Amino acid sequence: MKTIGLLGGMSWESSLEYYRLINRLVQEKLGGLHSAKCIMYSVDFAQIEKYQREAEWEKAGRLLAQYAQALERAGADFLLLCTNTMHKVAEEIQASVQIPLIHLADATAEAVKEKGLKKLGLLGTSYTMEEDFYKKRLANFGLEVIVPAEREREKVNTIIFQELCQGKIKAESRKTYQEIMANLVKRGAEGIILGCTEIGLLVKEGDAEVPLFDTTYLHALKAVKLALEEEKTVK
Ligand code: GLU
Repeated sequence: MKTIGLLGGMSWESSLEYYRLINRLVQEKLGGLHSAKCIMYSVDFAQIEKYQREAEWEKAGRLLAQYAQALERAGADFLLLCTNTMHKVAEEIQASVQIPLIHLADATAEAVKEKGLKKLGLLGTSYTMEEDFYKKRLANFGLEVIVPAEREREKVNTIIFQELCQGKIKAESRKTYQEIMANLVKRGAEGIILGCTEIGLLVKEGDAEVPLFDTTYLHALKAVKLALEEEKTVK
């Protein structure tokens, strides 16, 4: 089994999910007492969020590259950057290590393609919904991506930082997300990408009339498949 390196803490609420999912998936695939071999470097998210707000992406990239190198030295075979937003600096991180960084948007796009869908709604932080780095990566797979209207994007973003990243899960916010997803479906979305690793804590399959693509789950699943590539299923 390969060792999964996790760049986590962005936020730690979602890193908990990554840890739970990769262990659960390994146990499901191998059975018995099997669990994932993994190493996590969990950051202080306040520092990363400050860099985001101040548009200090270079500094953020340099810091995450250092943590990625620490994971490589510690024996990780490949890396997951456990946040969609910080994929804005994925190239810098990848350039700083020899081991592969498994891109979150690629894992997501592959799952969408498998379902044969083309037009997707995207929820995430303002950076993810409004800038190009993430949408372009999805477009490379031939996907058409639409995002909520401006006021809705503000609500989606505020709920992420003020609630989900702080462990607050509120029914009224779930309702807000349901309404925003329904509007995306009205505009033709055939599926919704939960393009922020905390959104799966708030909404689940069934909260929209179309399939949901939870990036945390899809990233964890791809990592486990890679980690077990040469493994025989013993279950
Ligand atoms: N975890 C979030 C994401 O997937 C948001 C936190 C961040 O800004 O890194 O984008």
